[in-house]
Amino acid sequence: MKHTNRGWFERAQKHIPGGVNSPVRAYKAVGGTPPFIARGSGSHIWDIEGREYVDYVGSWGPLILGHAHPRVVEAVALAARSGTSFGAPTIAEVELAELICEIVPSVEVVRLVNSGTEACMSAIRLARGATGQDRIIKFAGCYHGHANSFLIEAGSGAATFGEPSSPGVTHGTARDTLNARYNDLASLDRLLEANKGEVAAIIVEPVAGNMGCVPPTEGFLEGLRERCDRHGALLIFDEVMTGFRVALRGAQERYRVRPDITTLGKIIGGGLPMAAYGGRADLMKLMSPSGPIYQAGTLSGNPVAVAAGLATLRILKEDAAHIYGELENRGAYLEAGTRRLLSDLGLRLQPQRVGAMHCLYFTDEPVTDWDTAAKADHKRFTAYFHAMLDEGIYLAPSQFEAGFLSIAHTKEDLDRTLDAMAGSLRLAYEIGE
Ligand code: PMP
Repeated sequence: MKHTNRGWFERAQKHIPGGVNSPVRAYKAVGGTPPFIARGSGSHIWDIEGREYVDYVGSWGPLILGHAHPRVVEAVALAARSGTSFGAPTIAEVELAELICEIVPSVEVVRLVNSGTEACMSAIRLARGATGQDRIIKFAGCYHGHANSFLIEAGSGAATFGEPSSPGVTHGTARDTLNARYNDLASLDRLLEANKGEVAAIIVEPVAGNMGCVPPTEGFLEGLRERCDRHGALLIFDEVMTGFRVALRGAQERYRVRPDITTLGKIIGGGLPMAAYGGRADLMKLMSPSGPIYQAGTLSGNPVAVAAGLATLRILKEDAAHIYGELENRGAYLEAGTRRLLSDLGLRLQPQRVGAMHCLYFTDEPVTDWDTAAKADHKRFTAYFHAMLDEGIYLAPSQFEAGFLSIAHTKEDLDRTLDAMAGSLRLAYEIGE
């Protein structure tokens, strides 16, 4: 077997479903062979064939400090040398809980878990246990992990029950998940009206990053808060992606809306498997062992992951004004360059961005929800994606994923990206020099 991306991808298929441990990595949406990554440093990664890329995936969000940040690596090594897991209380997990609660004021009490999926799954169990109601409302195009309750597609009518979008999800589960349209309070009101007194929670990505990058329209998040209060439902912000990303305190700081429960992930683990859910003390007190709602984990609060998370959050907090200011500047620089290019080429695509989260939609109208996102031109995006990869720019292999900047991305990285973008857009749209 040749030591190539293709060789290893073929070998991987034999014992791993589709050759990958998470579906989007297989490049099915864009075709071709995913690079096998050998190492990363700062804003760059290298594949096993020795090719270097500027990385805009950042492990799908966690790496806001870039790959292998020295302070994070040191903290991980130090923790590992003292033992990798005890399943017993440690000081570092208390320090991390205190730091999270200090940074995110709506989170008064927090429980550490191992993935964003687990955090969101636990958050709705808490909401159901606290309210005594079964139904939850989510928004089409938002992703909250792969727990059964979230793998439900929107029904066509406002009051229609959801259909499972994956085999293995029962109709019983689907019945309790209702889908509204993102940025559309009227669609939410119809669901609330048809399910009066039965809704435990509304869960939302306060900036939708799993259909690209869709900011909340003015009044949308405030509208959710008001409706939750009126209907006795709990408001869950899924800040697995936006937490410590769109501002130090997440989207709840940026848009000044306070949820009852928040889920966190990605950045909180500094690149190791960790996530959390937290919120009002009176609600979190209901969790076992202080309350009756059960949730547990062998590796929860794992010392190595906690060390990576603590190091990451401490760096972000110490230097927040500079870091988030710089992320905003670099995001704005890339966006302005993209807009200039699009105008030079006479293309009407949609660059959308919130801070260091961005997406270039291959469609000519602004994207505000799943329906408008789904209009993106898949063929052109695929051509663009492969041209960028050939130029050494590593983007997410789908139109419906956000791109991420880190503090390690330099002006040289951004200029190289814009150069590659010029050629790649020409190629995708068959525009001559
Ligand atoms: N919620 C959001 C907003 C996410 O972006 C993700 C993952 N992309 C999840 C939940 C699930 O997290 P995980 O993949 O860690 O289970």
